[in-house]
Amino acid sequence: MSEVQSVQWFPGHMAKTRRAIQSSLKLVDVVAELIDARIPVSSRNPVLKGIIGSKPKIVLMNKADMADPAQTAQWVEYFKQHKTVAIPIDCKTGRGLNRLMPEIRGILREQIAAWERKGMTGRPIRIMVVGVPNVGKSSLINRLCKGGGAGKAAVQDKPGVTRRNQWFTIGKGFELLDTPGVLWPKFEDQQVGLHLAMIGSINDEILNVEELALSVIDYLTAEYPGTLEKRFGFEGMTDRVEILGEIARVRGCLKKGNELDYEKAARLLMDDFRSGKLGRITLEKPE
Ligand code: GDP
Repeated sequence: MSEVQSVQWFPGHMAKTRRAIQSSLKLVDVVAELIDARIPVSSRNPVLKGIIGSKPKIVLMNKADMADPAQTAQWVEYFKQHKTVAIPIDCKTGRGLNRLMPEIRGILREQIAAWERKGMTGRPIRIMVVGVPNVGKSSLINRLCKGGGAGKAAVQDKPGVTRRNQWFTIGKGFELLDTPGVLWPKFEDQQVGLHLAMIGSINDEILNVEELALSVIDYLTAEYPGTLEKRFGFEGMTDRVEILGEIARVRGCLKKGNELDYEKAARLLMDDFRSGKLGRITLEKPE
């Protein structure tokens, strides 16, 4: 079950989450904001800006292995224009993560120089990860800890560090807070809900799977023409419902009495889409 569904985001819950992130923020030098490279808008929560204030930040575009590389490159450029460093990463293989520490050193250049002037040369750089559910926060933390090799550092008795927090040493001069900040998505925006559901971040029971599949058909027909035709072997169809029917027919999704099973075809299409069988697809483009 997805965390979005299992966690109820009441206003009180959001306030509590916000306070938890704010208290962890005091302990770190930089925030790693994890977003989904396929939906860079819908996987961000605009309130984060207000929560972190002037704390330095790096954006990590996770699941880049599933996203359209050309679009990812455009997003990196978009972030650059907004004075934000963004790096595409993939926590399944660890691709891109070798850039994390050098980029953070770059972002904190002035801060590090100031520490050095004060004689704080060995001061580790502390990082926390934040992001909406299912974006890959646990995968990232696990991967960084494995990669760093140094494992857990027991530093709970340092002043200002609460008992709950643990720090992982993740390579020379870097420490990572073990608990990520979980942001809530912007549910009130319908497009956000739709896109989160399309990539499978929200349980299908919340949204009608046939509607989702028709949205995928619309998007692919407009932005990635030929994709469905190639996968399911049809030609010259433009009507979304007809296309779903054709997928049902080609894949033998039938109900009793040989009637086409649209729901089954919709599930099949969503599985293909979410598992990358339709190719690397990005649902949101920079403006
Ligand atoms: P969290 O809720 O933010 O902690 O997310 P998880 O770390 O539990 O990851 C959610 C799902 O995304 C899991 O099924 C992961 O295996 C998958 N995942 C995480 N990172 C990547 C990635 O870079 N690429 C792909 N393809 N899947 C990923």
